[in-house]
This record gives sequence, C-alpha cells and structure tokens, in this order.
Amino acid sequence: MVKPALKRGWRDLNTVQFGMTPAHALTLAPVDTATGSFLELLNGTRGPALLREEGHRMDLPDGHVDRVVERLARAGLLDDSRGGGPAADALREKKEVLDRLRPDLASLSLTTSAPGDAMRHLAARRALRVGVRGAGRVGAVLAGLLSGSGVGEVDVRDSGRVEPWDVAPGGLPPESIGDRRDEAARRVVRRASPDRPPRRSPTTPHEEAVPGFSLVIVAPRDDVAVHTPDPATAESLMASGTPHLYAGVVEGTGVVGPLVLPGETGCAGCLHAGRTDRDPVWPRLVAQWRSGRRRQVPPCDLTLAAAVAGLAAAHALAFLDGRTPASTGARWEVSLPALHWRARPVRAHPACPCGAAGKGKQEHIPEDGGWRATMAGQGPSAEVRQEAEPARPAGTWRAHV
Ligand SMILES: [Zn+2]
Repeated sequence: MVKPALKRGWRDLNTVQFGMTPAHALTLAPVDTATGSFLELLNGTRGPALLREEGHRMDLPDGHVDRVVERLARAGLLDDSRGGGPAADALREKKEVLDRLRPDLASLSLTTSAPGDAMRHLAARRALRVGVRGAGRVGAVLAGLLSGSGVGEVDVRDSGRVEPWDVAPGGLPPESIGDRRDEAARRVVRRASPDRPPRRSPTTPHEEAVPGFSLVIVAPRDDVAVHTPDPATAESLMASGTPHLYAGVVEGTGVVGPLVLPGETGCAGCLHAGRTDRDPVWPRLVAQWRSGRRRQVPPCDLTLAAAVAGLAAAHALAFLDGRTPASTGARWEVSLPALHWRARPVRAHPACPCGAAGKGKQEHIPEDGGWRATMAGQGPSAEVRQEAEPARPAGTWRAHV
C-alpha cells in the first residue's frame, strides 16, 4: 500500500506530491494518468498478483505494475500491511493494543523507508527496557509518555513521597499525594501502557539476569542537578556504556539533552569541563549551588515541565527507534517567557575521562536526525531521491549487554 499517512495531491497533470510538510513531503514525476489511477489500488487490500491482474485490466503495459511498485518502494512511499517480521505479527494479533498505537504507527511510517519498517519499529519498542531517574513534574509525565508510546518496560526510580507540587496532568495524580513517589510513578506507567506490562520489579532477585537499559533518562527534581548534572551520578551509566538523556526544568528554563553515548559524545563531565574553560569561576559557583540550603519548592512552570517531558520523550523514542536525535551532543534549552528553543553544543572535552574527545565522532552526527532529505522545494520534474543514510537498527546502540 502507498503510505496512507501522507496526504496526496497533484502538482500538475504528471506530478504527484505525497505529504504536506517540508520535512517529509516527496514529489514523484512523471506519473501518467493511468498510473495515477493505479495508485488508488495500492491501499493494502491487494497482493502483488492481484495488482498485476488489475494493471492488465487497465491496459497498463507488461511489467509496468512491478516497475511502479518498485519505484514507490525505492522512494520510501510504500508500506507492507503484513510486513515487519514475527514481532509485528504478534502485535497485529493484539487489536486493542494496536488500535491505541495507530497514530504512532502512522507517524513511524513517515520516518521509516522500507515496507513494513514502521510496524517493525513499533513492535520492537515492546521489547525495550528504559529507565527514568526522577519522578517529579517532568519525570513522571515523561515515563507515562514512553509507556503510552509502546515502550515495553519503563522503570522509574525516585525517593521520598509525593508532594502536592509533584502533581501534574498526565503525571502523578492528586490521589497519590503522600504515597511513595516511585510506586506512584510506576502506577502512572502501568496506566499509560496500551498493553499489559511484563511483571518485573526493581527488587527482583538475580538482578544480574535482568537485561540492561537501552536508555536511561535522567530527569532530576533538583534544579541544580538539571542545570549542572554531576558526573559522579552518571558514573555507573558511563561504566556500563548505557546511553542516557538529561531533561528537566531549572528556574525558568527547560532543558532537553545532552543525549550521551558513553565514550562517543559529550557527557556531563565534558559539559562541566567545557563550562570551566569558558568561565573559570564555574566550579566555585557549582559548589555553592550544590551546598546551599534547598528551597523547599523550586520553581517549575507546569507547562514548561510538560513541554520538556514531551520533547525529551520524543528524543528518547527517536533514539530507541534507531535515529540520532538533535540532542546528541547538545542541550536544547527554552526559557520563559519568549520560549525560543535553541541548541547549545556539548562538545567532547579532551580532559574528560570519558574518552569521547579522542573519537572525533562529533562531526559525524547528522544535523537532520540522520534521515531522509526532503524533495519539497525541488523542481516538480525531479525524480525522488533520498539520502542513503543507513539506519541503526532499533535498540542496537549499546557498548555492552
Ligand atoms: Zn565526557
């Protein structure tokens, strides 16, 4: 089937545009009228044999149907209503689960190219294990979003009990005030999941038998930790080679990033070293902020927290689906009240023990999320072309496990 997620329009008699937005729209030309009518038949109800038969009935030349299908597939415009492998088949059997995820599936079809890939990616999310450290206004909402997007296991950790100011729509509910924060957040995760989650608790004995995290999101409630993440708290993540993403709100600024690929991209240590280079008194300030008496309720605008949670979850999903989101080696920051998003690079620092500076990989991080080039803006006669950037198979980035 032609991907139904892309709206179709004729730019002229011979040129079809698939999609509306510059990010994902493609034009296909030349397409004659007969072929144009044939496109209508590519709706997922006919297999190749039946399509050839229909083509014959429409007096299309021999081999034309296969050529059209091949050309659409090469352009990334074709999906396969039965493709995606065994995990995808298993998900198709769970109709209620799949119905919940249909918009997400359609969205995945826009960023994947091979037929069946969208379903393959969606099904792959069910096998993933993601950690969330921190269950405040950002962390709990973010954990729910990941769970609702089909991530199979979202493990939230935090300490203490739910305070009234932790409550957020989509996050910790008012009924949970006074409950243990980690338990309340786990209930949020379970409630958001379109599927029954696997039974596993953090107190499971034989912890070593539990697979590692594909990604850990560090979403501290403490605003100093958001502004200046302590490299010491990420030591185990660095040592185990676990990719991790920082997110949070500090004063009136929301932060998403960096996504750290240990040993490959700038980490919390690199960030600290780079800031100290630019401002020699930085460590002195950080020491004061960390030792200062904690305000009981740090500022955290509810809508800003929601925006950070949503964007961080989107970056996390992009990574888990095998892409390279823009937070890789960068902090995205947005400040009240103008709310312009801007990226600040977090470069690998030669003095940081993480070793990323020696790798020189930073230059290879694609700026467009490592995906297709758009055809929009090119002449309508241009044949479809895509940037041939091989996708990293979903969930495969791990230095160990
Ligand atoms: Zn580093």
